[in-house]
Amino acid sequence: MLYGISNELFISNVQSLVDNESEANTKATSSFGWTRYHNLAEIESWLDDILATYPDVTEGFVVGKSYEGRNIRGIKISYKADNPGVFIESNIHSCEWITSATATWFINELLSSTDDLIRDLAENHDWYIVPVLNVDGFVYTHEKDRLWRKTRQPSSYSSCVGVDPNRNYDVHWMENGGASDDPCEWNYAGPHPFSEPEVKAMSEYLGSIKNKVNVFLAFHSYSQLLLAPYGHTADETPDNFKDMMKVAKAYADAVDALPYGTVYKYGSAAGALYRASGGANDWAYQEGIKISFTVEFRDEGRFGFLLPPAFIIPNAEEALSGIIALLDECKKLGYLHLN
Ligand SMILES: [Zn+2]
Repeated sequence: MLYGISNELFISNVQSLVDNESEANTKATSSFGWTRYHNLAEIESWLDDILATYPDVTEGFVVGKSYEGRNIRGIKISYKADNPGVFIESNIHSCEWITSATATWFINELLSSTDDLIRDLAENHDWYIVPVLNVDGFVYTHEKDRLWRKTRQPSSYSSCVGVDPNRNYDVHWMENGGASDDPCEWNYAGPHPFSEPEVKAMSEYLGSIKNKVNVFLAFHSYSQLLLAPYGHTADETPDNFKDMMKVAKAYADAVDALPYGTVYKYGSAAGALYRASGGANDWAYQEGIKISFTVEFRDEGRFGFLLPPAFIIPNAEEALSGIIALLDECKKLGYLHLN
């Protein structure tokens, strides 16, 4: 998101937003749904239910372990052999709760919707979805600090804890001022690439299946943007950048066609947002996944990371429509391959 640019303008009383959010959470029932935000234990127990309910088409997987020893879990959804693969990484930034809320809603739609478009989406792609990648940080946002963004691994030379995991991938790491070398900064890249066990595990897991994955999407908030490679420089673009912009336009147009009035912009990360090196989508692109985006969800700064739960489903519906259109365009342009 646009750190320090728009948030001060809009979010004048962050504490009242945090209080409203926890009030909504306290009032809620114990059942899983998308009218409030859930903690990691609730998400994992919901995931267990989903795996038990749809055993023929789902498979749980473990990406690896976090610094604090938690399993990083994912779900593969596959209705038939040879489908093109789509990978969704979500909640690498732990304060971005709308990302895992959207990812879980999306999983539920893929498995339970009877809508023809969604059935087509679900059954003609193989889905690899990691709802919460930064599990330690996510637990910390629920228990200690709602706006925590980084991992929870201490630094060996500073009292500041954690690394920005989306600056820690081994791709143009720390180039051109796209991240900070100060452990106390929000965009600290870590002592070296892949210093964070969550990021290293993710790279190994994605690396092991990359030949089956045609599209990589990293869910973030906020700013309403689709960001293509590269993050480390605006002076250079990927060789299929024009195609990626067509694909991004398809997503933005699909969101625009919904009644909510939400506008998505798109471009390269360094061109449309700011220089940010070492990000997951640049790494996935470097590994040969030719359609690779960071998707920054709602909003544009009014609520920021504290997007009220009432917006979970509208945001998720936008993501669903956007992804349907994005994959249609990928198919037209020849990016979806049988695996
Ligand atoms: Zn983010």
